Amino acid sequence: MSDNQNLRQRFDVAVVGGGPAGIGAAVAAARTGARTLLAERHDVLGGMCTAALVNNFCPAHLDHTRLIIGGVFAELRRRLIDRRSIYASPNGEYRMEPYDPDVFAEQSASLCLDAGVTVMAECPVSSVVFRGDGLASLAVRDRTVCEAGVVVDATGDATVAAQAGVPCTFGRQRDGAVMPLTYCYMIGEIDLDRLANALPGAVRRDGATGDRYCVISNHPKTNEWVAKARGTGELSIPRDHIAGIQSIPGRPTYATVNFGRVFCPDPTDPEELARAEARGRRQIDEGIRFFRKYLPGFERVELQETARQIGVRESRQIRGLYTLTEEDATGCRQFDDVVAQCCYSIDIHEPDSDRSTLRPFAPGTHFDIPWRCLVPAQGPPNLIVGGRCISATQGAMSSFRVSPSAMATGEAAGVTAALAAIQEPSPAGSSRPARVRDVDPARVQERLLATGAILG
Ligand SMILES: Cc1cc2nc3c(=O)[nH]c(=O)nc-3n(C[C@H](O)[C@H](O)[C@H](O)COP(=O)(O)OP(=O)(O)OC[C@H]3O[C@@H](n4cnc5c(N)ncnc54)[C@H](O)[C@@H]3O)c2cc1C
Repeated sequence: MSDNQNLRQRFDVAVVGGGPAGIGAAVAAARTGARTLLAERHDVLGGMCTAALVNNFCPAHLDHTRLIIGGVFAELRRRLIDRRSIYASPNGEYRMEPYDPDVFAEQSASLCLDAGVTVMAECPVSSVVFRGDGLASLAVRDRTVCEAGVVVDATGDATVAAQAGVPCTFGRQRDGAVMPLTYCYMIGEIDLDRLANALPGAVRRDGATGDRYCVISNHPKTNEWVAKARGTGELSIPRDHIAGIQSIPGRPTYATVNFGRVFCPDPTDPEELARAEARGRRQIDEGIRFFRKYLPGFERVELQETARQIGVRESRQIRGLYTLTEEDATGCRQFDDVVAQCCYSIDIHEPDSDRSTLRPFAPGTHFDIPWRCLVPAQGPPNLIVGGRCISATQGAMSSFRVSPSAMATGEAAGVTAALAAIQEPSPAGSSRPARVRDVDPARVQERLLATGAILG
């Protein structure tokens, strides 16, 4: 891009961060009629789903069959099914759904471009200045690249909100400790015959493609082997189980691994993050040596690829007009201003032990995520937040942080931003910023429902 080309380009809505929330937000804002920018620091869209090699949708099914998250998520999932790039749950089953991260990235980009979003990749937004004239200036490496009427913070870390003075909380309520990080990677090739013989249930057949594929998650036998290897000193990873090894659809003898565990007091601090990345990388080698020795069928696996970045589960949560609690989630609370639903387990990777706490919801139950959790309680009026960093306690976020619900809250943020920027009594010609708080959540719900979201 030449120096002048994008300078002062004007958008109605700028979405910072192109993870699931940012993708949902940008597509929704553009389809609502807003000139929309999506700025992502990596060379791919997808956030943790691609850049951190987390190639797995946690279930978004109610009663183990019916999807309770529609909208942009359901469209992307449908595209992955059409491309035979996801091992989707058969009807009647409640399963994790592994997908091909490259196809996820490709289809996310085409969803955005088809909707008319201007996508800027390799574009780390270094500052957002909320100006007195009602616009926000976005800078990349200290150079202003554009202006926008409303900004959606979909950075996962609430970076824009924190810089703009929105009060934020951090991690566990009693001490601010965040869930550990994991460096994911891809290995291959796995001998699926040997694995199937040794570990019943670890190899499945996909109904759509006929592929046999591997899914290992918290399997009692592998937990035993982990304990043994930790006992002999072969494993120093502070985790008592393998969180996930799942095949890549289309290449089922290759799999991504979610096994490492790195404690990090503050993943938003670049020095702490660099230390965590270094520790995470060392765990990869240890993990592969363990698999080769202990897991039948893994004797010849090699490292194929490492993630672009370490996976961050949790950092800041904004303080919003409402803070969703674990009790709201486990009590299956419904809200009048619901903009997304979630039925995934409370899933806390303990910040200071080798364990995880997993509390699944009873079949047929879910909780609502209210619109007010997306709206900062203080700070610039033309800022809204989507994804894992919306207003919540650690228990509630441990559930809705997963990618389907992150995409759904992003979508609601995008609709709200677009309505504020282009449809509310306009600040055009005045210096009053658009105010996301003035948007009636009923109009957001109306728009979401009209575009395929599921809200009840
Ligand atoms: C190890 C691990 C395993 C997981 N396993 C699963 C699983 O099996 N299933 C599941 O559904 N979910 C899983 N999750 C959770 C899920 O992937 C994330 O919580 C979800 O991706 C959050 O979405 P998000 O869009 O809010 O944030 P993110 O995915 O973190 O995306 C934020 C995006 O913003 C970008 N960004 C940040 N700052 C800037 C900036 N200044 N300028 C431009 N871009 C910026 C980042 O590069 C990134 O692309 C896992 C997460 C981790 C870490």
